[in-house]
Amino acid sequence: MKAEIIATGTELLLGQTVNTNARFLSEKLAQMGIDVYWHTVVGDNAVRLEAALRLALSRSDIIITSGGLGPTMDDLTKETVAKVLQLPLEVNAEWERQLINMFASRGSKMTQNNYKQALLPRGAKLITNDYGTAPGIWLEHRDKIIVLLPGPPRELEPMFIEKIMPLLPSSGSSLVSRTLKVVGLGESSVEDKLAEIIAAQTNPTIAPLAKLGEVHLRLTAKARSKTECQELLDETEAKLTARLGNAIYARDEQTMGSVVAELLSKNKLSLALAESCTGGYLAHTLTNIPGSSSFFSAGLVTYSNEAKSKLLGIPLQFIEEHDAVSAEVGRAMASQVREVAESDLGLGITGIAGPTGGTADKPVGLVYIALATPTTVTCQRFNFFGKRENIKERAVMSALNMLRLYLIQLG
Ligand code: ATP
Ligand code: MG
Repeated sequence: MKAEIIATGTELLLGQTVNTNARFLSEKLAQMGIDVYWHTVVGDNAVRLEAALRLALSRSDIIITSGGLGPTMDDLTKETVAKVLQLPLEVNAEWERQLINMFASRGSKMTQNNYKQALLPRGAKLITNDYGTAPGIWLEHRDKIIVLLPGPPRELEPMFIEKIMPLLPSSGSSLVSRTLKVVGLGESSVEDKLAEIIAAQTNPTIAPLAKLGEVHLRLTAKARSKTECQELLDETEAKLTARLGNAIYARDEQTMGSVVAELLSKNKLSLALAESCTGGYLAHTLTNIPGSSSFFSAGLVTYSNEAKSKLLGIPLQFIEEHDAVSAEVGRAMASQVREVAESDLGLGITGIAGPTGGTADKPVGLVYIALATPTTVTCQRFNFFGKRENIKERAVMSALNMLRLYLIQLG
């Protein structure tokens, strides 16, 4: 079964609307094991839509269109499908009555153009729309299935899940994906470590995707059932974990922040932050997590030397002697904020986010991150690259990873 998605709308071609409907439909069809071979986008133009439909009918078994079902002049999908299949449009009296009632209940009279929403190609099945006025359409023609859905995602998505998925033929196989998130290794070194596994393996497939400061491994398994897919994914995940160890920090929806939050809560440890170049970004990331009050005690943004001195009690002379961006000051920030906030752990970040302020021995992107625990203070030096915001993001990611690595070895 080959499926094709035709999204209509000039706004998609102009780049004003992102084609999220194609993404949504593809994802759902993939989960059902139905192969999507083509995505087509066509403007609100009857001639080009007709050409797109004819092409789709020549090469696909299932065609799903999105958009162009509304009451306005530029809504032409249904009319064009009827023309291509040579089917007359007929009034669906039941939906016409419902439309009239819908308008009446809102206290308005239905305008003439709305009547066309009650028209259906002969032989088609009407798919009711609980979230709007344009119904969807299900058509079986010769050996093809043609499904017409309205454009607004809040209408299309529930309609597809609730009403179309149960009608689509089962492919006899399922597709399940899992994302493993890897930190601390660049894309090329991840590929290098996994080259043999990736090359030798076709089910699940393994696709490395480079992200900012991390790499995602997307595994996709195909099998007769979802359970079988999960088993295949578990096997591959075990193989990858054996290679990458604790560089794999999370799965699917989990984030670095949520993983660290969970570990802090589990170990009943509180955390205080002294941030300089990240400007509170780490505090923001951690407090975005519901329940962060159980471990987050305080976050200070000590940007100037005076603030580092007054709020954290680090002598000005010490800062001037070592420079604000140094391992010594990073360590002092971590241990002092831990003292001041009376927390179990303290984290200090100091660096140069750029684009100005770098020197030959202290270039832009140089960041020291220090962690103070009840027994030790450790500090790591990083050289990040990229724009100012990227450097801040990478620093936050690395700080969280330092915390994570400390917390996992506590057991
Ligand atoms: P309506 O009854 O609202 O006119 P329709 O079926 O005629 O629905 P369109 O007019 O094509 O649909 O699109 C309505 C709106 O839905 C668009 O303005 C756009 O915001 C959104 N939309 C349309 N197509 C897509 C798409 N492929 N992906 C995401 N959003 C879309
Ligand atoms: Mg419309």
